[in-house]
Amino acid sequence: MAVSVYEEEFQVSDVEKKCPKCQGAMEEGFIRDVTHGATLPSEWYEGTPEKSFWTGLKTSGRAHYEIRSFRCTRCGYLESYAG
Ligand SMILES: [Zn+2]
Repeated sequence: MAVSVYEEEFQVSDVEKKCPKCQGAMEEGFIRDVTHGATLPSEWYEGTPEKSFWTGLKTSGRAHYEIRSFRCTRCGYLESYAG
């Protein structure tokens, strides 16, 4: 049975973020994932990747979280949160 927290609110603070590298402004976004022709945000899965003949990688039964990523508008640094 898959463990999903997909519907939960992200716990990241709404305080304006600063880049840890250059102190530039961070803008929110997500890393696109294309699955079966649909555009979805990428997800983080627990554990090491195991190849599956049928699905590419085995993901069933693993905890997973949608990834939210912030990009520095000055230097392009990415800071990602999964939760
Ligand atoms: Zn930066």
